[in-house]
Amino acid sequence: MPIPSKLRTIIEARCPKCREGQMFEFPIAQVRKFSHMHTHCPVCGLRFEVEPGFYIGAMYVSYVMSVIIFATVSAAIYLLFNNPDFYYYVIGIPLMVLILLPFMYRYSRVLFLHMFGGIKYEAEDRTTI
Ligand SMILES: [Zn+2]
Repeated sequence: MPIPSKLRTIIEARCPKCREGQMFEFPIAQVRKFSHMHTHCPVCGLRFEVEPGFYIGAMYVSYVMSVIIFATVSAAIYLLFNNPDFYYYVIGIPLMVLILLPFMYRYSRVLFLHMFGGIKYEAEDRTTI
């Protein structure tokens, strides 16, 4: 079985240690349960919260995502509606942030764990199985 790439592991929100176990309990399409996260990797048993309050730092990643969304949506509204009234921006930008909230919540945690968790990939030894 080929080793999943780091990028693919992040996109699929998988464990950084085994690159197989899902970090979240439900698919992102189940919007009401988007924040339910496994405490431990279901495959290798890695504790996802590597230290207490670890994911507080994920809010910085989320902030960067919000700024990107703000800039992108602002530019899109400006170009698509030919510089409309201020209220288009006041409604459009928070609406898009609200729609993308599950995505931002999950990927801020996934990116933070992969970047700052200090966890290296360990291929499972399958020769003994
Ligand atoms: Zn794992």
